[in-house]
Amino acid sequence: MIELNETQAELQGAVARFAATEIEPHARKWDEAEEFPQHLFPALGELGWLGIGFDPAVGGSGGGPVERCILVEELARASAGVALGLYVHMVLATNALVKVADTPLAVSLAPALLRGELRGAWAYAEPDAGADVTRASLRARRDGDTFVLDGTKLYITNGPFADVILVVVRTGGDPGTLKGLSVLVVDGDTPGLSRRPMRKLGMRASELGELVFTECAVPAERLVGEEGSGFRQCLPVLSEGRVFGAALALGLGRAAVDEAVRHVMVREQFGGPLAELQAVRFTVADMVARLAAARSLVYGAAEAMAAARPFDTQASVAKLVASETGTYLAERALHLHGAAGFMDDSPVQRLYRDCKILEYGEGANEVQREMIFKATAAGFRP
Ligand SMILES: Cc1cc2nc3c(=O)[nH]c(=O)nc-3n(C[C@H](O)[C@H](O)[C@H](O)COP(=O)(O)OP(=O)(O)OC[C@H]3O[C@@H](n4cnc5c(N)ncnc54)[C@H](O)[C@@H]3O)c2cc1C
Repeated sequence: MIELNETQAELQGAVARFAATEIEPHARKWDEAEEFPQHLFPALGELGWLGIGFDPAVGGSGGGPVERCILVEELARASAGVALGLYVHMVLATNALVKVADTPLAVSLAPALLRGELRGAWAYAEPDAGADVTRASLRARRDGDTFVLDGTKLYITNGPFADVILVVVRTGGDPGTLKGLSVLVVDGDTPGLSRRPMRKLGMRASELGELVFTECAVPAERLVGEEGSGFRQCLPVLSEGRVFGAALALGLGRAAVDEAVRHVMVREQFGGPLAELQAVRFTVADMVARLAAARSLVYGAAEAMAAARPFDTQASVAKLVASETGTYLAERALHLHGAAGFMDDSPVQRLYRDCKILEYGEGANEVQREMIFKATAAGFRP
């Protein structure tokens, strides 16, 4: 089991209390409205939680990977969709900006992002660029001191409303190679950028969009990292992101276990609560055991990251196991609920819809398996 220190346990309690009063009671409403609750950006900024894991020099509130896992896990337990929107803002967009951009650009934007006054998005995916990260082809043509963008990004979380979008663009080379992929910070209101919301199966409390760039001029000083290699420079941020994405799966999985236990204790069939049937008790026990195993992996990877030890393969293992555990737990919780779980007003049907993306987002699990195999062939041992 995970041993949290006193400060971490306090943070966990505080986020859990906030999530139980400010998020969970509204989770169904936000899911049905397919709207992200915008007031949570400044609310979490005010509490200092968006700044967890960031240096105070850029407006962060300190703490590290373990604290960030605690935050994401507890938020996801209340609403995976809400956690996803905040995760992309914090863990992908702001983290890439802070870790890779030149100090003046990072300092000009990060404090407002960490206060939740600006909302961030990370735009990599395209119609022809998914699990293969070399396929991005959105062109950025140099024109004096600007880049002019033409092309489309798809499936971008926070895309419909983000103020600050980190866009992966091709400034050179051809699709199929990482060389030539740069990252530009694009303001949401830049002329030439149009956005279209996209509807989806799950994670409906987050908002997803298509971004179309037409002759969209962005100042060259908005480059994150070097021209032609900014995306490669962001790859470590994506590795980190896998650990926090895995924490999101843990939160969703804990919600599934909680719902399953609550239900089997009160639902009566065959003369007593379902929990009196051994098959049901064993199902719940297996759920708890798998969740505990996934938690050890996720927090183990976070601790490795905090100690500045190599953690890439651990991150892949944690992401693979936690995401598939999330799907397993949501399915078992739904199964134990019978027809009641299948109904619109049941939280477990939402968990069942929300879980699947975690298996192919943040690097498809097949890609994680490839990376784990290669690392193992090179000597990695768990
Ligand atoms: C809710 C949601 C939120 C998202 N948010 C963002 C965001 O904020 N920013 C962003 O850039 N993108 C986002 N995405 C898109 C995400 O990046 C892509 O889903 C992801 O990159 C995978 O690409 P794809 O979906 O096109 O799948 P594809 O690349 O088409 O792959 C489809 C399937 O093929 C199989 N496969 C792929 N590669 C391999 C392989 N090497 N070996 C074996 N099998 C393989 C896997 O089963 C995989 O699931 C989001 C998507 C969703 C649904």
